Amino acid sequence: MFEMQDHLIKATAAGAMVRAVAAVTTDTIEEARRRQGSLPTATAALGRVMTGAALLASLLKEGHKVTLQLKGDGPLKEVTGDAEFNGNIRGYVRKPQVHLPSRAGKLDVGGAIGTRGTLSVTKDVGLKEPYAGIVSLVTGEVGDDLSEYLLTSEQQPSAVALGVLVGTENSVMAAGGYLVQPLVGAEDEVIAAIERNIAKAQPVSDMVHSGLDARAILEHVLAGLDVEIKGRQELRFNCGCSRARAERTLIALGPKELKDMLAEGKDVELNCNFCDESYIFSIEDIRSILEEIKKRWVIHSS
Ligand code: ZN
Repeated sequence: MFEMQDHLIKATAAGAMVRAVAAVTTDTIEEARRRQGSLPTATAALGRVMTGAALLASLLKEGHKVTLQLKGDGPLKEVTGDAEFNGNIRGYVRKPQVHLPSRAGKLDVGGAIGTRGTLSVTKDVGLKEPYAGIVSLVTGEVGDDLSEYLLTSEQQPSAVALGVLVGTENSVMAAGGYLVQPLVGAEDEVIAAIERNIAKAQPVSDMVHSGLDARAILEHVLAGLDVEIKGRQELRFNCGCSRARAERTLIALGPKELKDMLAEGKDVELNCNFCDESYIFSIEDIRSILEEIKKRWVIHSS
């Protein structure tokens, strides 16, 4: 199989009556799988959520980002995906060791997430307060839930497909997804054509596995509707955490917590849930952070 850099393609169709985006995320999801140490069902859930976040982020603007979080009554408990407009994606699954028997030949993501719970979408678009919407889960399969969110919270009918194919060694062989949205004024005939195309289409993970790129996926789903490519974005796993951010987390704990840490006399290790990176702060580091906090206090109060 040939190598393909993860990417997404944005397009319109039927003379701008339809907006669509498709993504290939195989390497990104494999990187997340490796860092989370997840088993196949957990990996499939993680990959669908991260890919869904990437699709939503592509509809925002430069500098904006989105977080997709599913919390359910299934054994995974919580799955989160973060994506930025620039193509950075990361993800986290609370119980990565979950693997369930397949159902009808497919990884049982709905069973692992659960059908009772919520999907929340938080968009950071540079305003003081991020935009947040929340809906009840429909099936826990992620695609259906995202489609429900878009309809009820954003009044935007959407077809969403998300898929991850996991190989025998637990590694990700293919991952991707697409989002198709008829816009206001779309003719019934156009919507019917999309429905026919999607009904005929293979699962999106199979399309990626057979070597289709995002553009080819859109050409299948929007066949006969004059696809016009509007943009391309490379995608990658990128956490964005740093020692400076870890330090801010420590500062936010407040002087009392930090003094307790000093009294313990041990190094403090902060571990990132998303990428598994560790940031270690020595007693000396903690002491100088405390000094910094004190200095700020003096400056602000004078
Ligand atoms: Zn990280």
